[in-house]
Amino acid sequence: MTTEFTTAAGNTGTTGSPVGQDVLVEAVDLRRTWGSGSTAVQAVTGISLRVPAGEVLALMGPSGCGKSTLLGLLGGLDRPDGGTVHVAGRDWQSLRGRAQSTFRRTTCGYVFQNLALLPAATAAENVEVPLLLAGVTRAERRDRVSEMLEQVGMAAQADHLPDQLSGGQQQRIGIARALVHRPTLVLADEPTGSLDSHNAQEITRVLVTAARQQQTTVVLVTHDPRVAAHADRVLHLHSGRLAEMEADGPGAPRAPGAVTLTGDPASAGVGS
Ligand code: ADP
Ligand code: MG
Repeated sequence: MTTEFTTAAGNTGTTGSPVGQDVLVEAVDLRRTWGSGSTAVQAVTGISLRVPAGEVLALMGPSGCGKSTLLGLLGGLDRPDGGTVHVAGRDWQSLRGRAQSTFRRTTCGYVFQNLALLPAATAAENVEVPLLLAGVTRAERRDRVSEMLEQVGMAAQADHLPDQLSGGQQQRIGIARALVHRPTLVLADEPTGSLDSHNAQEITRVLVTAARQQQTTVVLVTHDPRVAAHADRVLHLHSGRLAEMEADGPGAPRAPGAVTLTGDPASAGVGS
């Protein structure tokens, strides 16, 4: 069975109209160049994609192919030189200043390899930060933090400082912090990059399980195929372009035409 998706720019060719609720993220012809002149690097060169609500999407590709640049554009941390990104019907480009930071804070959660946990704050206090920013009451903060710590298997370490935790445990705290305010979209950039393979698997499972439980959409950047195997869908990047679409996991949300390649499909190495 297929599901119809309403999109901002896809089927109708119009721009500016809101994205239908089934498509959470829609990027159209994204371009981003770093630097200028002879040293300019075209990190993202015309990428279009849709992420259905509730999907866990993995972005894979060799180092330097533009994964982090693309993730930054999807998550509103960076602005494209061309193209558009809609998240939950809102165009990142149309949001400025306070409206943008509020939308980012309420709609998105971020997990990075370098977590930047507050070193003098306990695990629980680190997880609490997004709730403090959202103005959630003390009682509800306490409940949601302990529920979240439970979910990532860190209830017993609630009062530990980050440097009393292993790398994997710190990542669990990072995941809890990214999900505690129940964002619609979680963006994760190589969250398991510094972990051994066993831990990387385990942490990915924690992230994906917690996200699925709260029906949060995930875009996960990884170079590890075993990590990507936890996703519903894997997109490969190569030199700033999408290369192909890969096998989906069981029960994966299906978006017809979920990937639109721009430019010359042959040179983009479209999988058959
Ligand atoms: P990946 O995450 O796949 O390793 P990136 O998106 O980080 O790739 O980088 C893509 C290209 O853009 C690389 O050539 C990288 O050197 C360049 N790049 C990324 N970020 C910057 C930046 N802030 N300034 C200049 N060049 C950058
Ligand atoms: Mg990167």
